[in-house]
Amino acid sequence: MAFESLSDKLQNIFKNLRSKGRLTEADVKASLKEVKMALLEADVSFKVVKQFMKAVQERAVGQDVLNGLNPGQMVIKIVNEEMVNLMGAETTEIALQPAGEITVLMMMGLQGAGKTTTTAKIAGKLKSKGRKPLLVACDIYRPAAIQQLQINGDKQGVEVFSMGDKNKPVNIAKAAIEHASKNGHNVVILDTAGRLHVDEDMMNELIEIKENVTVNQSLLVVDAMTGQDAVNVASMFDEKIGIDGVILTKLDGDTRGGAALSIRAVTGKPILYIGMGEKLSDLEQFYPDRMASRILG
Ligand code: GDP
Repeated sequence: MAFESLSDKLQNIFKNLRSKGRLTEADVKASLKEVKMALLEADVSFKVVKQFMKAVQERAVGQDVLNGLNPGQMVIKIVNEEMVNLMGAETTEIALQPAGEITVLMMMGLQGAGKTTTTAKIAGKLKSKGRKPLLVACDIYRPAAIQQLQINGDKQGVEVFSMGDKNKPVNIAKAAIEHASKNGHNVVILDTAGRLHVDEDMMNELIEIKENVTVNQSLLVVDAMTGQDAVNVASMFDEKIGIDGVILTKLDGDTRGGAALSIRAVTGKPILYIGMGEKLSDLEQFYPDRMASRILG
């Protein structure tokens, strides 16, 4: 289960806090130190932990809290609220153009992150909202990728546009947009190639697409199981390509929590969706408050 160890630790810390009637400043500081350790062990970025602890400390150590009716409960409430803030506070949707125009979404991510699966999941979500998406196979390097997209597109009842593996991705993207405008599609979702690591060729290919077609949203798919690496990947993509949002996959696994808690704070970009399984229906909107509740138990 996701966040299990972090949740257990935080729940224990909170149990201790609740069990004490009156709290001294030292009690609160000791508890917050334990919270800090738990976050670091959950692979939350050091910088983010520091920033988070500062915000909590400023609110939790004051006289108002200590002299209040239920200081333990107050501290817990503050931790909860700051955790929600860390993850962006508000739910963010994919920004779509009006239905009469074409919205181009460029999906990016490292190999294995879940990009092709997520691309098809998003197509299904948009279809159910009344949009007419077109999936586009721009990953010309992994022979199975085109086929995988086709299979997933069929399952979702969404058309897949492919030109095989002999054309440049930027040209496939251009042709797909033309096809979309002739056939009444109003969302074009580009499934670009992933690599094992961030590399120059992959970045250049994405830059070339962005320079030559109007990409409305560049969306990055990252694997929550990779913790800090996911956060670093997000930073690199944002720096080189510019990202508008993140989809965090594999939150159904036993991820520690670092990626979910750090990505927004490090990149300033929102998590839009979370992947909760391999099935094409396993994609959920990201709610910072619900995520904090899951983590805090
Ligand atoms: P890509 O290389 O980034 O396109 O990754 P794929 O879409 O091929 O996904 C890689 C693997 O991760 C596949 O086995 C997917 O079924 C699996 N996967 C994708 N998203 C999730 C998720 O949210 N949860 C789980 N458990 N598996 C996922």
